[in-house]
Amino acid sequence: MEKNRILKISIMRYNPEIPTIRPSMKEYTVEEKHGVSLYALLKYIKENIDPSLRFDAVCKTAVCGSCAMMINGKPGLACKTKTCDLSVKTELHPLPYFKLIGDLSVDTGTWFRGMYERTESWIHSSESEQNDVRFSNAMMKEVYELDRCIECGCCAAVCSTAVMDDNFLTAAGLLRAARFMIDPRDKRTDLQWYDVVGTENGMFGCSSYLACNDFCPKEIPLQKTLSMLRRKMISTGMFGREGK
Ligand code: SF4
Repeated sequence: MEKNRILKISIMRYNPEIPTIRPSMKEYTVEEKHGVSLYALLKYIKENIDPSLRFDAVCKTAVCGSCAMMINGKPGLACKTKTCDLSVKTELHPLPYFKLIGDLSVDTGTWFRGMYERTESWIHSSESEQNDVRFSNAMMKEVYELDRCIECGCCAAVCSTAVMDDNFLTAAGLLRAARFMIDPRDKRTDLQWYDVVGTENGMFGCSSYLACNDFCPKEIPLQKTLSMLRRKMISTGMFGREGK
């Protein structure tokens, strides 16, 4: 019978509340068990080797997005990553762009709340107007597709514009805007959307490298969504169309 691999997991350790202790990498040696996720491995390390290790995880089923981290330099979910897909040596870092809480734990919640406020992430119309709208199956599917974001932050972590501009909406923010833009119940006009999305911090800040599209763990069609937004913003900017 084949022996289990011995994994070397190197994790960035840093507590921003003690800035005098500089960030460093700490290596943990763990025997791999069959079919486990990276999340399960981190849990094992925390429970058996180092209780001070900080990382986030809630649902463990790729629904809450909280265990996103940089896995060998690429963003991904620890719960969705199988250790058998990793080499013997793995490096883990926290997601960049978000405020670091400690080790692998970052505060995505505050950023997402702020983004929802910026994009006014709710249906803009009266209840009676909403009751009048009938969704076709195709439309419902389209809205649902853009509503699948789990707020993991992986798209922001690989975004070259976000690295340089803290105010950039990122793919997650632009996706959120697109979700309400295509919703027939939302009565915001093209010009109103232009103020939110047609800016240097919005669609026109995107450099179209599309790493967001490559690393979204939910495989949301970000490339298609960003192209739709760009076309819409250019058309509104040039012709100032109003209405949906
Ligand atoms: Fe995560 Fe994808 Fe949502 Fe970005 S768009 S926050 S990568 S689920």
